[in-house]
Amino acid sequence: MQHLLETDPELVEVIRKEEDRQKHKLELIASENYTSQAVLEAAGTVLTNKYAEGYPDKRYYGGCEYVDLAEDLARDRARQLFQAEHVNVQPHSGSNANMAVYMTVLNPGDTIMGMDLAHGGHLTHGASVSFSGKLYRAVSYGVSRDSETLDYDEIAEIARKEKPRLIVAGASAYPRTIDFPRFAEIAREVGAYFVTDMAHIAGLVAAGEHPSPLPYADFVTTTTHKTLRGPRGGMILIGKDRENDMGVVAPKSGRTKRFSELLDSTVMPGIQGGPLMHIIAAKAVAFREALQDNFRGYQAQVVRNAAVLAKALADGGLRLVSGGTDNHLMLLDLTELGISGRDAERMLDAAGITANKNGIPYDTRSPLVTSGIRVGTPAVTTRGMKEDDMHTIAGFILRVLKSGGDEAVLASVRAEVREFCAGFPLFSV
Ligand code: PLP
Repeated sequence: MQHLLETDPELVEVIRKEEDRQKHKLELIASENYTSQAVLEAAGTVLTNKYAEGYPDKRYYGGCEYVDLAEDLARDRARQLFQAEHVNVQPHSGSNANMAVYMTVLNPGDTIMGMDLAHGGHLTHGASVSFSGKLYRAVSYGVSRDSETLDYDEIAEIARKEKPRLIVAGASAYPRTIDFPRFAEIAREVGAYFVTDMAHIAGLVAAGEHPSPLPYADFVTTTTHKTLRGPRGGMILIGKDRENDMGVVAPKSGRTKRFSELLDSTVMPGIQGGPLMHIIAAKAVAFREALQDNFRGYQAQVVRNAAVLAKALADGGLRLVSGGTDNHLMLLDLTELGISGRDAERMLDAAGITANKNGIPYDTRSPLVTSGIRVGTPAVTTRGMKEDDMHTIAGFILRVLKSGGDEAVLASVRAEVREFCAGFPLFSV
């Protein structure tokens, strides 16, 4: 960072502090991870200088011959990784990816059906504060009160009643395996498009640790920075491309356009301008890493670690929403401890543990307070932590949550966390 140090020492100081935080605290936010140095290097290259509106070989700017190669690498690798016929690697974020899919097949006012934000869905699945709830008529499904898992018969009933034009599966805080064939069946029955947002589980899907939605969904969206461990960004995949059924034809030839063509033109020029070529290059690197054998081992360890951590927390007296986890995350219900998610987040943070407050299904507290905490293992697993370490982490969490906020307990856990983290060094930027 020599040049940055000369130009902007103030900002270097900020970066160093963030680097220090990432090194010395336990990162348990389920949607975060540490990219490799190779990914970071690609993201910090001269590719950021290049305007490349359009797609490889069909750009609106000259001088794109090398960024074309970078985007082709990213697309080819993503196609191979997820067995997809078509992929668009340009969305700047997961939210943009969802917006592009909706705008490809929906008109404003159409009905979309997604998982309730309060039950673990994402803002872009129809929440009233998001474009998805403002532009479209949004209806939601949730988890059953008893099992706290998706009740597919109930989802089918809602779909029959509401007749959505698009159903989206996927979540930000759902600890169980999602049944994509069942969702596809429901969507087919009511004549809806079926979209899966696999942002949280994309790495698990790539490694075979969660069933893939690609054979079942019309479109699959994802972020690239969660379990997939790439740079911050989005992506859209089509498992099996086909001619669109909305009657959109190419003006000159009269040929019916394929969904892939409609999708690409919704991403650009529909909702974005120039792609972030440095980030697309970093995505290419991450996909190459994800194609290696050791990535499968990493994802298997993420899932094993989550299972061990969940059991240790339950053995310590905490209630887990749905009773446990099948994937990389778990939701802790703090009601019986008498503390809110907001309090727990603050106490954990003071003890060097980063996790986020999260509503639990049928939560009676507001989203800013909540009764739960969401905990995930992708980042700590990247650091090399294994099953035994999950017992140590569970011990830290239990001591903090049962401390009643006692400063002495928080300080002693903070010191232990710092020492524990030092045993799992992160590379230096
Ligand atoms: N979809 C899901 C399921 C997510 O959990 C998230 C982010 O948390 C997104 C989409 C949005 O991604 P981004 O923050 O990149 O817009």
